[in-house]
Amino acid sequence: SRAPVKWQRVLLKVSGEALAGDREQNIDPKVTMAIAREVADVTRLGIEVAIVVGGGNIFRGASWAGSSGLDRSSADYIGMLATVMNAIYLQATMESIGIPTRVQTAFRMSEVAEPYIRRRAVRHLEKGRVVIFAAGTGNPFFTTDTAAALRCAEINAEVVLKATNVDGVYDEDPRINPNARLIDSLTYQEVTSRDLLVMDMTAITLCQENNIPVVVFNLGKPGNIAKAIKGERVGTLIGG
Ligand code: UDP
Repeated sequence: SRAPVKWQRVLLKVSGEALAGDREQNIDPKVTMAIAREVADVTRLGIEVAIVVGGGNIFRGASWAGSSGLDRSSADYIGMLATVMNAIYLQATMESIGIPTRVQTAFRMSEVAEPYIRRRAVRHLEKGRVVIFAAGTGNPFFTTDTAAALRCAEINAEVVLKATNVDGVYDEDPRINPNARLIDSLTYQEVTSRDLLVMDMTAITLCQENNIPVVVFNLGKPGNIAKAIKGERVGTLIGG
């Protein structure tokens, strides 16, 4: 069991799947608005929030490359562009309720967003702006989970908060075993050795090497995002 933590700067990872909510469309405006409202609450408390958005609601490189014969790098560039669409949508939603927000892309799209510049991102955060990192790491063969771990380390954020559609990590697959139990906390070692599908191996080892704790939690439950950012107990905590 674990005690609450006071984070000063967090990296929130929002997957594309989470943005889609239960809609057929790619993005559910109710979800983006919920994120915006809860992030607004915590930035008012002075907590600095950076966000990495996924793109799986629009395009996933690996599965397209597998099924269509498209080469993997091209497919992954399309996937990275998908994350930019989500980022711009989320930015517009945040700004519609008055939260100053900057999007920074891992490759240049200067008419649309700032390029990723680490020091500038940190400066935005210090000024109370939310920074959304888009286009993943900018490299094919990576994921936005790895981008979240990487950006977290770069900007000296204290934790990766991984918002998903499930309550956290279970001891068994809850879709198969209804008695599966939600795990309160885990070590990195347990995640990798038990092959728990929390995030991909590159992302989790990057977190481990840099002692970055990861909290996996359900974004679908009202209040959870704010709770996770405020360091209250929610979901599953992965750490040393
Ligand atoms: N992607 C990539 N490099 C990165 C991050 C993402 O090539 O550093 C591509 C990859 O094709 C991936 C897609 O962008 O499938 C969408 O990202 P991801 O699958 O991580 O999104 P999520 O699962 O979080 O919605």
